[in-house]
Amino acid sequence: MITIALTKGRILKETLPLLAAAGIEPAEDIAASRKLMFATSQAHVRLLVLRGVDVPTYVQFGAADLGVAGKDTLLEHGGDGYYEPLDLGISRCRLMTAGPVGAGRPQGRLRVATKYSNVARAYYAGCGRQTDVIKLYGAMELAPLVSLCDEIVDIVDTGNTLKANGLEPRELIAEISSRMIVNKGALKIKHAAIRPLLDQIAGSVRANGPEAETAEKRAG
Ligand code: AMP
Repeated sequence: MITIALTKGRILKETLPLLAAAGIEPAEDIAASRKLMFATSQAHVRLLVLRGVDVPTYVQFGAADLGVAGKDTLLEHGGDGYYEPLDLGISRCRLMTAGPVGAGRPQGRLRVATKYSNVARAYYAGCGRQTDVIKLYGAMELAPLVSLCDEIVDIVDTGNTLKANGLEPRELIAEISSRMIVNKGALKIKHAAIRPLLDQIAGSVRANGPEAETAEKRAG
């Protein structure tokens, strides 16, 4: 049995066509179900549907052999216990710092609110900037508006959410897309089953291609 942990939400929507092109289709409609585990068209493959932050943990401990998660989530998790063999090229966005439009950075320590606290600490330390990082779990854009922080670290796609809240992007921390990860032990032990699966999915990623994704976005 091969268990694949998927990230629910927009990443799931873009992952399912890649899996379908590789011959893996859920046995029932995931969106219409409250289940968290699904059989598929391949008897030896099952899917788990999780919050993104939990995907690397399931794969790290071998509860799932494979996983799909955003690079932002993987950077924050730290990458223990798994390899990252495949860039799926989906759910592209940027991990950025952002702050109130036109506001300069204050002298001295910078207060940064984010759900990416590990990434933020490492990033500002790398820039030699002293920061106090405040961990939040959502709605980061609100924090500077009520003086909880000077700056946020968040993912930006169109930039519309920042703009709607009087914020502007500042520095790029990392280009983000979703990645396939694989448990290190599982890759050894289940190599004969996992390798062809990775190759099939890599094939559907190539067929999808960056041009295909851009065209799809343009078409709305
Ligand atoms: P936007 O207004 O298009 O810049 O999107 C900003 C918000 O959408 C972010 O704060 C995220 O919550 C969410 N978002 C954008 N892109 C992604 C992505 N690739 N994966 C997950 N969430 C995203």
